[in-house]
Amino acid sequence: MSVPASIREAPRPAALDVERVRVDFPILRERVRGRPLVYLDNGATTQKPRSVIDAVSRYYAQDNANVHRAVHSLAQRATEAYEAARARVARFLGAADAREVVFMRGTTEAINLVARSFLRPRLNPGDEILVTALEHHSNIVPWQLVAEEAGARLRVVPMDAQGALVLDEFEALFSERTRLLAVAHVSNALGTVAPVTEMAAVARRHGVPVLVDGAQAVAHRAVDVQALGCDFYAFSAHKMYGPTGIGVLWGRLEHLEGMRPYQGGGEMIRRVTFEGSEYAPPPARFEAGTPNIAGAVGLGAAIDFLEAIGPETAGAHEHDLLAYATERISEIPGLRLIGTAPEKAAILSFVFEDVHAHDVGTILDSEGVAVRVGHLCAMPVMRHFGIPAVTRASFGVYNTRGEVDRLVAALWKVREVFGR
Ligand code: PLP
Repeated sequence: MSVPASIREAPRPAALDVERVRVDFPILRERVRGRPLVYLDNGATTQKPRSVIDAVSRYYAQDNANVHRAVHSLAQRATEAYEAARARVARFLGAADAREVVFMRGTTEAINLVARSFLRPRLNPGDEILVTALEHHSNIVPWQLVAEEAGARLRVVPMDAQGALVLDEFEALFSERTRLLAVAHVSNALGTVAPVTEMAAVARRHGVPVLVDGAQAVAHRAVDVQALGCDFYAFSAHKMYGPTGIGVLWGRLEHLEGMRPYQGGGEMIRRVTFEGSEYAPPPARFEAGTPNIAGAVGLGAAIDFLEAIGPETAGAHEHDLLAYATERISEIPGLRLIGTAPEKAAILSFVFEDVHAHDVGTILDSEGVAVRVGHLCAMPVMRHFGIPAVTRASFGVYNTRGEVDRLVAALWKVREVFGR
């Protein structure tokens, strides 16, 4: 197996030996603007451990061929590697069956597939789709696209001033017109952890299927789709130490079996004539064309990496960083935290009263500190807080308290530059 010894041997579930984890990430030895890189943009994408980089490059160096098509040995090896990655994902999510795992480009494509192939045929004028106030654009716009076509509309679960969902009002939002609930497991802008298990239980009582956007969750907490009680779960490999261009839609087999293909092409059919085609069963039905085979292999290695650390250990380490960073940056005058829900994952967003987020980001970069600035693809969240943009620090397994200190020092520099 491709898990680095340093992680395999790390004590579990005791505290993470972060210095040993860091050794496995070549990019962390980079210097930025003459300073050692402090990478705090993990919500956008995480860095990749050597084991993932090696798995992808070994696949290309030793096994590369197209999958499911040829009888030659390399094709068999590539197919085995691709399908082994699918089985690995199924175990990781607690899926009942590997056929429930569809490889996609990422979370965005996974949600679009559900919107187009599952929801659209069920939508009629006047129907409603429930989303929450903390969603990323990719869990809003795909639903709007199909709602517009069908004459349906979105209804929104509200959130409070801390960025927690207001669940008192949740059940009242269901009606006989509700066709789906779409909710982020963890908000990318605020770090709020949504109570998805409880929400899915309510939705089930109303016979409403649930899609969970797990993009910001899978790297930071254990995910078990059975325990969550959802119908679909979407995530991207690149936010969990895996490659870009690959992600997953998990869906209950009975749903997937009833869905029409999303795209047509090779590999997704059983039989084709000019009169009509018969589609392959899932998951092949939704994987038209040559898939991202190397990406799937890399995703499998990323899961090995994460599981060797242990999701609880990773989450506890990041939570410690979040608590420490929250305390330290709260001391900076004029800085306001955005998103202070009681249950939060490793995301820290904030604004300076009098400094634009882009200026903050530029000064932080000059100190070698990488953060995200802007609306974070969550404009409705910005509107809720009455701000155009935030600065966001988001933590991963390789971040340290020392790096939080570098962030805090750079933020004091912002204060100096802007004359306070
Ligand atoms: N959902 C959430 C909560 C996200 O944070 C992101 C990306 O930032 C996405 C969806 C979209 O993910 P991707 O761009 O990998 O498809």
